[in-house]
Amino acid sequence: MKTQDIQAIQELLATPKKIAIIPHRGPDGDAMGSTLGLYHFLLKNNHQPTVISPNEMPHFLEWLPGANTVKIYEKDKATCTQILEEAEVVFTLDFNALHRTGEMETVLSTLTAPFIMIDHHQFPDNYATFTYSDINFGSTCEMLYNFICFLGKKADIDENIGTCIYTGILTDSGSFRFPKTTGTTHRIIAELIDLGVKNTVIPTLLFDNSSFGRLQILGRALQNMKVYTEHKTAYTYLTQDELDSFDHVKGDTEGIVNYGLSIKGIIFTAIFIENKDEKIIKISFRSQGDFDVNQFARDHFNGGGHINAAGGKSENAMEDTLKKFEDLVRNLPI
Ligand code: 5GP
Ligand code: MN
Repeated sequence: MKTQDIQAIQELLATPKKIAIIPHRGPDGDAMGSTLGLYHFLLKNNHQPTVISPNEMPHFLEWLPGANTVKIYEKDKATCTQILEEAEVVFTLDFNALHRTGEMETVLSTLTAPFIMIDHHQFPDNYATFTYSDINFGSTCEMLYNFICFLGKKADIDENIGTCIYTGILTDSGSFRFPKTTGTTHRIIAELIDLGVKNTVIPTLLFDNSSFGRLQILGRALQNMKVYTEHKTAYTYLTQDELDSFDHVKGDTEGIVNYGLSIKGIIFTAIFIENKDEKIIKISFRSQGDFDVNQFARDHFNGGGHINAAGGKSENAMEDTLKKFEDLVRNLPI
């Protein structure tokens, strides 16, 4: 961050403020970890912070410290709009464009309070007064750690804040496997463990929290998988009927996309998940190496993300969406 931005933010936060903190719609471990980590930090500094998520977080994140204080915009628009309008500072974390908040964008785009963006996605929009955006980081949580250090407040990082930061680093790095995981990432993790963060308990809370239904959904997705060895691509899909037959709950499909990459020789994988309520097929893309799924998602499926992890959507039927994808795969330069 620029020194003058840090100074301006220090001045802004020098007196107690009402502060809104916003993750992206469909918040993941990094979105909730960073917003709640910042929440605890601001609380400790005598502010009145509120995390407002566009929609609900998955159950496997509900144990995060402070998760019970999170307001859900799409469930209580009146209260959330009032909090947003009264906010003197608005933090947006783990996303690069206001449309990533869904319907909440309409309110956010009318606010006049200064916005502070902390994010690691490509091509940040220019809506924030202060933008801390850097694609070299594997998680927004690692950037939040730096942000707190920039403000000269490293000593404020305690077990609560550390637990939130640990969660986002762990989940967004694929458990410390993805390419942006550095020595510095591990040094931060080591510091957090020294602060009392339960590094052996958190993965259990996050990943060993499945219902039997979730395992059956995974089983179905693996059965539905199509592998195109010559194009180094594998994809799968889940229809709404399939999800319903296993009593699907939010978060059940998280991470399933990655299984395609575990096949030898596969470098590009996707999952197509039907959502009848929203009348869309939500798509996740993952890649290994140079194949840029962010560009692919932007070019063909109205989405975006990072080079190796991106998402998008289709408003066409599942069959047509899969056919479009298969046609694209046949012509990929991989
Ligand atoms: P996921 O597949 O886990 O939903 O998302 C993978 C990455 O792509 C995340 O960083 C997420 O924020 C981003 N992403 C997911 N869906 C979209 C989308 O529709 N638009 C954009 N711009 N990014 C997305
Ligand atoms: Mn992230």
